[in-house]
Amino acid sequence: MSDGGNPSCSTHNKTRTMIKPSRPLLLLILAVCLALGNAVRHRVKYVYDGDTVQLENGQRLRYLGINAPEVRHGDRKAEHMADAARNLNRELVLNAKVSLEYDKRRKDRYGRLLAYVFLENGETVNNILIQKGLAHVMINDEDIKYRALLLASQRTAIENRIGIWRELLKTDQNSYLGNRASHRFHKKTCRFSKEIKKIVWFKSRRDAYWEGYSPCRQCNP
Ligand SMILES: [Zn+2]
Repeated sequence: MSDGGNPSCSTHNKTRTMIKPSRPLLLLILAVCLALGNAVRHRVKYVYDGDTVQLENGQRLRYLGINAPEVRHGDRKAEHMADAARNLNRELVLNAKVSLEYDKRRKDRYGRLLAYVFLENGETVNNILIQKGLAHVMINDEDIKYRALLLASQRTAIENRIGIWRELLKTDQNSYLGNRASHRFHKKTCRFSKEIKKIVWFKSRRDAYWEGYSPCRQCNP
């Protein structure tokens, strides 16, 4: 797991010999060094879109807890703001060294890593994309680690109508139904809506996003 130690920790060790801190402090410094040493950094080699990148070792990584607009695939048109999301992601991580934090599942069904991505300054890339309104929260599991943080950022972006939200919330319908188990929301007419066991109704698209639900890919509510 180690990436060869953390330079700041060796500085601490030099300081130790000079000022002779107490034993509890030494133990604390040791714990921090071990924690930092375990945070392996990866260089990002390629950025596919706003939420998927390739690491230097060839592994694909999907940002956890968010979904950015899809870029153009073949004859499928790019979604609104897809280029802006990819560009921001490139600015943030391309050729940068990032560290990853995993949640319950380490990989998705396509074999991509699922993680929160941290820049060297400690900022979370997943959260920055939400803050800028260039991705929305996508929850697959009720208690993902950073759900509250991501949702708070999304609510601010919605209130300020930035990025995707200006267009997305321009028109609205009067009811959508959500699936409490999957955290997806649907049009009333969606064929999947009949299969939902734990339904929650939303009086607007905004309300669904406000609660962290993401749109069904089939009915595109
Ligand atoms: Zn649907």
